[in-house]
Amino acid sequence: MSAPTMIGLTLPDVDEWSPRVVVALGQNPSIFTGPGTNTYLVGTGRERILVDTGQGVPAYLPVLERALERAGCRIQEIALTHGHPDHNGGVAALRERYGPLRVSKRPHAGFDARAPGPIHPIDDGSVLETEGATLRAIHTPGHAEDHLCFVLEEEQSLFSGDNVLGVGTTVIPSESGDLADYMASLERLLALDPARIYPAHGPLISDGAGKLREYIAHREERERQILAALALGDAPIAALVKRVYTDVPEVLHAAAAQSVASHLRKLEREGRARRLDEKPPLQAVWSLR
Ligand SMILES: [Zn+2]
Repeated sequence: MSAPTMIGLTLPDVDEWSPRVVVALGQNPSIFTGPGTNTYLVGTGRERILVDTGQGVPAYLPVLERALERAGCRIQEIALTHGHPDHNGGVAALRERYGPLRVSKRPHAGFDARAPGPIHPIDDGSVLETEGATLRAIHTPGHAEDHLCFVLEEEQSLFSGDNVLGVGTTVIPSESGDLADYMASLERLLALDPARIYPAHGPLISDGAGKLREYIAHREERERQILAALALGDAPIAALVKRVYTDVPEVLHAAAAQSVASHLRKLEREGRARRLDEKPPLQAVWSLR
């Protein structure tokens, strides 16, 4: 799940974004995935690592075949950034077609139950290797608890999953996500000073560190806006969304509400906002502390 602002953006189905990185588009465009999920063949040899598998739509396999042809390789193994269905949904079809490929990810009881077959557990610091590429996992919770980014050591570049997107901003789900964790993850990624970023949705990001600084500034600005909206009077999130997202069409307000809820839960933990009732975040009336 990602930013709803990428509607209408189109990308080529197969493209080479570096001598080590060929992208195959997941063929699952939507309000949440933008042009669809990017899946990446990484390496330079006859066998390469596939990062993410898309949603599992039948139209993806022929596109992946073209990408494999272009790269002149087979799939060595699969690495997943996290267990959301637009990233692990293709695993079953890929195993059916190419045999029992190893699938590495950070384990998550809830998400992994929906994906068939065994998971090879990896975590922060784990390394996956193939000819011409070394991928080092960075645990980056916030958008999802099991989220890993992968540093491509040979390029000092980053596969950012859903943490950083080519266009728009990441949705932090109000129930399963955590904005404070997410902000800490962005700071950690910035400290790596990545050259370029290969996002799970949207085009290549050529200035990785610059984009991370932009993301951090955007969240800080949003927090200021939400505090200012609350200062106008106690309100439920639906009303706060109308005060803050004045330039966003109403069809996207449900996604915006998730974001506001994530901000308010963070502010609540920090003692800067509170609920005036016992209701869950999306229904409650909120007030400044
Ligand atoms: Zn996701």
